[in-house]
Amino acid sequence: MITELAVERVEFTCGHCWRQWSCDYDAQRYTDQDGHEWEYFGLDGRAAESPYTPRGAQACPGCGHRWVGRVLARRPVPTPPGLSERPREAVNDPIGHRAERHHAPLLGSHAHRQPVQPGPPSKGSWIDADEQTSAPASRETP
Ligand SMILES: [Zn+2]
Repeated sequence: MITELAVERVEFTCGHCWRQWSCDYDAQRYTDQDGHEWEYFGLDGRAAESPYTPRGAQACPGCGHRWVGRVLARRPVPTPPGLSERPREAVNDPIGHRAERHHAPLLGSHAHRQPVQPGPPSKGSWIDADEQTSAPASRETP
């Protein structure tokens, strides 16, 4: 049973070349018949690994190093049936009902304004020069 649906904007920051980018993921929480909870992700309509784990880390478009993401914003999607007064629409013609939806363009995971590129931290900013080579290495995947 699906217990939670959301669109999550995930931000990635490359600790190597400092590029930032973001993607919109579909996130689902699912409870199986044994009561175990699972999280599923989708990217552009396809199954994807969690962007918050090393397996789902994205390659930096600038240098190719892989980084896990962090949630930047989230839009919950109510799961049906919900409250009894929740608006709904009967589907009496399963094939013809809103058939145009099959031809609508993909609302792509990158179809939003990308972050302004911050560039590397300047001398005297919050990171010391000695730390620049390692920070934020804790988020880089092996
Ligand atoms: Zn990079």
